[in-house]
Amino acid sequence: MSRPPARPGGATDVYGAEKRSAVMRQVKGRDTTPELKVRRLLTALGARYRLHRADLPGRPDIVLAGRRLAIFVHGCFWHGHDCARGARVPKANRDYWQAKIARNRARDAASQAALATAGWRVETVWECELKDAEALKTRAAAWLSIAPRLAGRPRPKAGEKPG
Ligand SMILES: [Zn+2]
Repeated sequence: MSRPPARPGGATDVYGAEKRSAVMRQVKGRDTTPELKVRRLLTALGARYRLHRADLPGRPDIVLAGRRLAIFVHGCFWHGHDCARGARVPKANRDYWQAKIARNRARDAASQAALATAGWRVETVWECELKDAEALKTRAAAWLSIAPRLAGRPRPKAGEKPG
């Protein structure tokens, strides 16, 4: 059995409290910078969303429930993206990393299939795609322009009569 390599910067005492909490967030995979970028974009477009809904398969990073839209923001390395960064598996402990990434990929596929079966639209934003801000903006606008499939009738605006 190969063992997981030590995390870089394992001596946490060198960090101040603020830096340490930032590091811990990275470790937990929440509120990572790529995810924040996507969230800021959606906010700028006027979207309302919830984060990390544990009641949905795969706990999608960003959920627009009214639109039945679930968004995953994936690190290319951890989720085995087919890109230069995703292909860069460390030489040390190669078997360990490859097995771990394969498990992540299998879990991602199962989560996405389960969401689709439940009527959700699933979008994956890869870390490497964040470099092209304009393309991402166009894509996000397209998500929001698509009518929800199973969310029922649109709610009337305040002051309007339904139907
Ligand atoms: Zn990538």
